[in-house]
Amino acid sequence: MPDVAIVGGGVIGASCALELARRGASVSLFERDHLAAHASGRNQGLWVLPDDDANVPMARASLEEYRRVAADAPLDVGLDADPVGTVLTAMNAREVRAAEEAVARATRHGFAVDDISNPRDIRDHEPGLTRNVAGAWLVHAGHRLDPGALTVALALAAAERGAEIHHHVHVRGLATSADTVRGVVTDDGVVDADMTIVAAGPWSSALLEPAGVHLPIVGARGWLVRVAPTQKRLLTHLVEAPAPHSALRDGSALRWPTGAEVIGEGEPGSDIGALLHPHRDGRTIVIGSTRQIWLTPEPAEESIVGRLLDAAIELVPAIAEADVQSAWWGLRPLSPDDRPFVGTVREGLHVATGHGSEGVILGSGTAQLVAAQIAGEEPPFDAAPFSPLRFEASERRTGERD
Ligand SMILES: Cc1cc2nc3c(=O)[nH]c(=O)nc-3n(C[C@H](O)[C@H](O)[C@H](O)COP(=O)(O)OP(=O)(O)OC[C@H]3O[C@@H](n4cnc5c(N)ncnc54)[C@H](O)[C@@H]3O)c2cc1C
Repeated sequence: MPDVAIVGGGVIGASCALELARRGASVSLFERDHLAAHASGRNQGLWVLPDDDANVPMARASLEEYRRVAADAPLDVGLDADPVGTVLTAMNAREVRAAEEAVARATRHGFAVDDISNPRDIRDHEPGLTRNVAGAWLVHAGHRLDPGALTVALALAAAERGAEIHHHVHVRGLATSADTVRGVVTDDGVVDADMTIVAAGPWSSALLEPAGVHLPIVGARGWLVRVAPTQKRLLTHLVEAPAPHSALRDGSALRWPTGAEVIGEGEPGSDIGALLHPHRDGRTIVIGSTRQIWLTPEPAEESIVGRLLDAAIELVPAIAEADVQSAWWGLRPLSPDDRPFVGTVREGLHVATGHGSEGVILGSGTAQLVAAQIAGEEPPFDAAPFSPLRFEASERRTGERD
């Protein structure tokens, strides 16, 4: 196996470090902050069925590996042993259609679903939920975990197998000679590697562009609000309402922001859905989810916290009485089709990024694919949907029209 340098100590970089160290590669991971310093440390920590069928094999591979890592970890990863269950809710006809699609997808992938739209069934299964729904379904899927603990556990397991984990080392650029990437340039000097993996989340493009690699990734800000309801164990399942049709979506495909939006003309669109996660502490509920293109380091729309709470109160009225404990935002590395980019982009250079809202769901599966690609093995599942080159032809065509 080659010597490997990994840029990024989020869930993707840490997963790659473990898979490659397990195969005998000499691995050095560089993180400019500390492990899980960004979205990987504080996201919702949910493993749920991906929205896109192409991502499902990668998601399943991840969950299997997380079970093994959690069992051996020296810290509590908090992974539910059994699915906690997800109540899909719909308040109007449009949401019923969206929920029915999600129900059909869950059934197709083998998850049991109960229709609990009847007020009596809602009372029996999730009494905190409003009875004023157009439809509600209990999908027997969904696992919670502590995403920061998972990332650290993955990195510790990699270190046990010989990987070197470097904190507070900023990779300033890729070391190249002729057409080949030869490693990374850090503040401490150049580190040679046969293969460099960029797993730097929303900051990946900043490293790749100077090396002539253009990946269409934007940062998408997401907020989470944590509340403590007066009643303990107000919810027992995840509760989800579909996000409304928004500026970021056009039908089922993400509408990619135009150049004008990226540089900040006009108010960026934002998706507001409601995803309520009863924390396993039994006392708090974490409320997501929003998606807003990241234009400046400062939040553009502070009103989002209030809008998230409104959306949650509509579903679970008792949240109106809850204490708001904290609000946080992080950045997702978003690709135009919500699928990650995984593969070689130049000699000596691999990418593993663009996981959007599914970095935890897809983390270890991504790493298993990366390791198989680098080792020259059969991929564990179809790698074509994740090709880093998949937008190149259409971009070239767009460029020709311009
Ligand atoms: C509000 C919110 C809720 C979410 N909920 C979920 C969920 O429930 N389930 C799920 O699957 N996903 C969820 N996500 C998405 C998930 O958090 C991301 O997909 C995932 O964290 C991406 O991981 P990553 O390792 O690619 O990126 P990051 O976590 O961003 O890690 C990249 C790392 O690279 C480092 N880095 C960048 N540039 C350099 C450099 N030049 N040198 C050295 N280091 C560098 C950064 O410091 C960072 O630590 C959520 C995201 C948000 C914002």
